[in-house]
Amino acid sequence: MKTRRRPYAEQRPQDLGGGVWSVPVPIPGSPLGYTLVYAVESPKGPVLVDAGWNHPEAWQALSGGLATLGIDVSTVRGVVVTHFHPDHAGLAGQVREASGAWIAMHENDAAMVRLMHDFAGDEHTAFQSDMLRRAGADPSEARAASGERPAPPAVPDRELRDGDLVDLPGRKLRAVHTPGHTPGHICLHLEDADRLFTGDHVLPDITPHIGIYPYDREDVDPLGDFLESLERVGELGTLDALPAHEWIFPDVAARAAEIRHHHEEKLDALLALLAGQPEPQTIWEVAAMMTWNKPWDTLPPMLRGMAAGEAAAHLRTLEARGRIRRLPDVELVRFQALDS
Ligand SMILES: [Zn+2]
Repeated sequence: MKTRRRPYAEQRPQDLGGGVWSVPVPIPGSPLGYTLVYAVESPKGPVLVDAGWNHPEAWQALSGGLATLGIDVSTVRGVVVTHFHPDHAGLAGQVREASGAWIAMHENDAAMVRLMHDFAGDEHTAFQSDMLRRAGADPSEARAASGERPAPPAVPDRELRDGDLVDLPGRKLRAVHTPGHTPGHICLHLEDADRLFTGDHVLPDITPHIGIYPYDREDVDPLGDFLESLERVGELGTLDALPAHEWIFPDVAARAAEIRHHHEEKLDALLALLAGQPEPQTIWEVAAMMTWNKPWDTLPPMLRGMAAGEAAAHLRTLEARGRIRRLPDVELVRFQALDS
C-alpha cells in the first residue's frame, strides 16, 4: 500500500461534513508531526476533541486553523481530551483561558494529571533511576534516560466514565473507555454520525506505545487491557475512524483486528525468545533482544526507556496468561518461560 504519510507542512484544516472539522496542530520536534484536533458543532458552541501540544506555534495553528473554518476559539464550549499525554491535553488549559470552556477527561487520566502536579521533578528522577536499576539497566544509562518532562496538563473540570455522554447539546457523543495506551484513554463515539474519534487507540499505520510504569508492576496489565479495548472498539462495527494522528480511515474494526494480531505475534515471538534462554532474563536484556524500528544499540536513552516499558508490558501480559514467571527477587526483576 502506498503510504499516505504527509508532513505537517502539507496538512490543512478541513471541513469533514456533518458539523465536524479537523485542524492539524504541530508537535514541535516530533516525528509524529502533528495532532489532529477535531471540532464538533453544537448550537451552544463547538466542542473540541483533544487540543494539541502546549507551544506558541501550536496555539497559532489551533486558533488560526479554527478561524479559517469560521470558528472563533473564544466560542469553544468544551474540550474533551482522549488521554492526558501532552500532544493531546497540552493546550486544553489555554483554550479554557480563552473561552471559559470546560475540560473533560476520563477519571483515570484525571488522577494521572493530579499525580503529575503533585510529583516534584527530583522525586520523579529518583523514582525513574530506581525503576531502571531493578530492570537491569546500566547505572550510567539509568541517569541518562530520565529526560526533560513537559509541564503537566491542566487539571480537568469534569471527569468521564465509560458510557457517559459528553456535554454536546443536540448531539450524541459517548465516551468509550479504551485503557491501554493510558489507563484512562477514551474513544468518542459520535453516535448520530457513525464516527469514532479514536485518539491514539487506533491509528491507521502506526500502533500506540503500550508501556508499564514502573516496569515491574504486577498489579496492572496495560497490554492485556489494550487488547481488550481493541476488541471493544471492533464490536462497535465498521465506523469511520477519526484518529489523533496520521489520517482519517474507514472501518475501525478491521484496523483494530490487525493491531491485535500484531501484538499477538509479538507476544509469541517474545515467548519463543525467552524459552530459548537458559538463564532468567532482566527486562533490559529482553528489550535488547527484541526487534525495534532501529537497532537497540543505536537507540538514544529516552527511546530505550520506552522500549523497555514496552518489553515490560509484553512480559507482564505473558505472565498474566501463565506463560512465563517472575523470579522472587525485588532488587533485580527477572523472567523465565514456563513449560507449556
Ligand atoms: Zn498518546
